[in-house]
Amino acid sequence: MQRYHAKLIALRELAPEVRHFVFEVVEKDRVDFTPGQFVSVTERIGGRDITRAYSIASPPDGKRFELCLNRVVDGLVSPHLFDLRPGDSVRVTEPLGYFVPRRPLSDSVFIATGTGIAPFRSILHHVLQEGTDRRLTLLFGARYEARLLYHEEFERLASEHPNFQFVPTLSRPDDSWHGRTGHVQVHLDGVLDGSRDLDVYICGLKAMVNDVRAELKRRGFDRKRIIYEKYD
Ligand SMILES: Cc1cc2nc3c(=O)[nH]c(=O)nc-3n(C[C@H](O)[C@H](O)[C@H](O)COP(=O)(O)OP(=O)(O)OC[C@H]3O[C@@H](n4cnc5c(N)ncnc54)[C@H](O)[C@@H]3O)c2cc1C
Repeated sequence: MQRYHAKLIALRELAPEVRHFVFEVVEKDRVDFTPGQFVSVTERIGGRDITRAYSIASPPDGKRFELCLNRVVDGLVSPHLFDLRPGDSVRVTEPLGYFVPRRPLSDSVFIATGTGIAPFRSILHHVLQEGTDRRLTLLFGARYEARLLYHEEFERLASEHPNFQFVPTLSRPDDSWHGRTGHVQVHLDGVLDGSRDLDVYICGLKAMVNDVRAELKRRGFDRKRIIYEKYD
């Protein structure tokens, strides 16, 4: 497996305890990956090397790749990554993993909560840039509006691409929210729209992923068309 250093170029706050990081690989001119893949980041903590996986949140772009990280308060690695400043480097593996769009692409529903949005940001930007006539739907759940990561970006993509639908839902909205409410599970029937000829991609923590899979199976959905990545 190839390993590189990646230098932090920029970062920005997306929401409380959630940051977007822009890296460039140091030893190579380009980093090749299929949208949906992750890199493993190794940090030296307390004299030990500790590795964690992070989905690439951006489409392929030369030597650049972006990550979307949540700080897990009692976590080992993520708080360290939140200490990074532009110019600092981390050790990463080459991109890995099989959570990538099936080809040829079918009509697809992407379901995420939290930073589970990261691989879908990569996939959707890439696929929509490439051009497709497939119907793509992103069902994205968060507690509050401030935690709907990349909200405006997905709204813009939806306005530019009539075949892409963005379906945000909030489980703890305040009075100013007039959109969908409840967990992503509540909106499955709406996004499936009676069709079984769809691929469904799910990404996030295992409680949500398992629950959505169980709901899909309960509806008689073909399990071969359910593709998922669990973060924990
Ligand atoms: C393939 C893959 C891709 C991943 N991509 C991302 C990503 O793009 N962004 C990202 O923030 N994390 C991602 N993760 C999770 C990440 O690898 C770490 O598990 C996370 O950063 C916690 O590591 P830690 O060392 O800080 O915490 P640990 O000391 O390992 O503590 C783990 C605890 O953190 C919880 N946890 C794990 N991930 C999250 C999360 N994202 N949000 C809240 N709680 C979490 C677990 O339930 C567990 O209780 C991914 C995991 C996998 C397997």
